[in-house]
Amino acid sequence: MTEMGKTINDQQINDLTEQNNFSEAAKNLLERQKKTWQILKSGYNSLNSIKTKRINFDGFSFVVQFNPSRYISSSAKVDDKSINDRNCFLCLENRPKEQEGIMLNDYILLGNPFPIFPEHFTIANKKHKAQRIQNNFEDLLFFSKLLSKFYTVFYNGPQCGASAPDHLHFQAGSKNMMPLDNEYDKIINKYGEILSDRNDCKIFGIDDGLRKIISIEGREEKRLLNVFNSFYKEYSSHSDLDEPMMNILCLYQKGKGWRVVIMLRAKHRPKEFYKEGSEKLIFSPAACDYGGLCIIPLEKDFNRFDKDLLNNIFNETSIVDLDFQLLKEKLKSLK
Ligand SMILES: [Zn+2]
Repeated sequence: MTEMGKTINDQQINDLTEQNNFSEAAKNLLERQKKTWQILKSGYNSLNSIKTKRINFDGFSFVVQFNPSRYISSSAKVDDKSINDRNCFLCLENRPKEQEGIMLNDYILLGNPFPIFPEHFTIANKKHKAQRIQNNFEDLLFFSKLLSKFYTVFYNGPQCGASAPDHLHFQAGSKNMMPLDNEYDKIINKYGEILSDRNDCKIFGIDDGLRKIISIEGREEKRLLNVFNSFYKEYSSHSDLDEPMMNILCLYQKGKGWRVVIMLRAKHRPKEFYKEGSEKLIFSPAACDYGGLCIIPLEKDFNRFDKDLLNNIFNETSIVDLDFQLLKEKLKSLK
């Protein structure tokens, strides 16, 4: 905890960071940036006119959001060559001059100018280094506790939704905007299977028909870290990618501790993404989509979304039953 706060010339924000009130400081940063940064201001203004629809399943729901400002992000090329050829937008030297931030140890918290949530931040590492959860999981726990008053913190793996797979970052968004934030307990009761319950740490496997999820709940950071590392070891043993595919939502509640919800992925994008003409669909599901808030940048695609389409897409981009069964068996036998 050496370098927290102090990058911004705003007394109120600096006072809040000195009081360790980082949720309020983040909120203030965003309000300030709406006055000082036109692109961010229009991004938040455009949120006022977005269309949404709720699609109900048995015991849970999805909200589909038509959000044209996300077109670039949803359709972005994330292959190695395209990434190498562009200037990294999370590196200090390429960030817009109007963009300000709050230092959080080795990271800087920045307002996201193309928001999905009423309040949306990127927490970028100070260094340009690859997006990986291994060895950085503690940071996810740390930020979710630090920002728990207002925000859920999430992680997109380099091959399933991170728009900067070459620059380590997390995101934070307003709590309870993703249906899963609220529906978690109901989903666990209906679709959850307890895999382990020891040392004040529970592991669940969840299959709600669309998503395959491993969730870890606990109050003790060390224990959560150990469990996550064991999970990672098992999950990565079946993958030859830089990182096995996953998105993670992390929420901290006083008294209850952390809830780490890991979405297990088989594909970055559904087959419709690669089609031509009217069949093409611009949709790149990442953490928030898996949290039940689906971001659709084109209105014609938004109109196509219904229960069947969601069902097909999420089944296609999630791991298959057999892999999930095997992983659950391994986690049941964790020491
Ligand atoms: Zn970078």
